[in-house]
Amino acid sequence: MEQTLTLRRPDDWHLHLRDGAMLGAVLPDSACDFGRAIIMPNLVPPVVTMEDATRYRDRIRAALPEGSDFTPLMTLYLTEQTDPRDVRAAAAAGVISAVKLYPAGATTNSASGVRDFVKVRGVLETMAEIGLPLCVHGEVTDPQIDIFDREAVFIDTVLDPLRRAVPGLRVVMEHITTRQGADYAASGGEDLAATITVHHLVLNRNDLLAGGIRPHYYCLPVVKREEHRLALRAAATGASGRFFLGTDSAPHSDPAKLSPCGCAGCYTAPVALSVLAHVFEQEDALDALEPFASLNGPAFYGLPPAGEQITLRRHSAPLPQPAPRRSADGEVTVFDPGFALHWAVERSPEGA
Ligand SMILES: [Zn+2]
Repeated sequence: MEQTLTLRRPDDWHLHLRDGAMLGAVLPDSACDFGRAIIMPNLVPPVVTMEDATRYRDRIRAALPEGSDFTPLMTLYLTEQTDPRDVRAAAAAGVISAVKLYPAGATTNSASGVRDFVKVRGVLETMAEIGLPLCVHGEVTDPQIDIFDREAVFIDTVLDPLRRAVPGLRVVMEHITTRQGADYAASGGEDLAATITVHHLVLNRNDLLAGGIRPHYYCLPVVKREEHRLALRAAATGASGRFFLGTDSAPHSDPAKLSPCGCAGCYTAPVALSVLAHVFEQEDALDALEPFASLNGPAFYGLPPAGEQITLRRHSAPLPQPAPRRSADGEVTVFDPGFALHWAVERSPEGA
């Protein structure tokens, strides 16, 4: 059955574009489907100052395909040395849209992250004062804590105390993966929101580990039990308005993924909207796709929703799996959800 779905152009509220040749290889995939994206600052070295963010933004703009109106929304990587005055100036100049908190060692290139939260208190208080959101990678890094419990423990031992210590701080819980994460986000006030990735709506830990390890399904936070995947689906398709799309699309070359110590990250950008439409159709919630992908995020960030629309068409024949993207470091495999996809973004001018 052919069917179409028209919605305001989606935004991606959590995206890794990398830099250099990889940036050039992956940017067109996000720029053709999404209007704006929150750009993660975990480069090597990380994006820590207004000047770093300005330069990175310029490199992204320079790498955009001809005629693209994609808008990168920049972030700063919070370190214990971050200067509140630089954050204030970067926000006032419109250079940054958020600051990113990585607990030290939590994920790819996070060694410069925060160990002692007392040292970033001044920055967080400035952010609360000016209304600048803090995007949080919500996992503890204590090796004593089981990797499947790290999000729930983070909420209890770090996030909730942090929010109480800095009232008014606007927080985005990024890429939540658990029922506890969804419940906490739903129970917060209007200062709290959460992003959900495409792959966490599709995968549970059996998909990663049962019947053979699948490195292309390895990401951080790691995918969890089925009950958590179902809780995320309920949150994404529900009416709360606090949940929105952040793909966490994170390209690594295949040699870096398929190794004895493979990198974490799923490269979902090329199929994100196809998979998302599939999920929302399965949940009998296609009318909830526009709020999740296009409306709730701008509302939280205080931005207008996109003025333009896109159309998704459900094709009766399954779509071909996209070819790997080529980068200087090797091919980048595009996320394969493990089932046939039928929804595709219309690329014709009238559908754009
Ligand atoms: Zn990420």
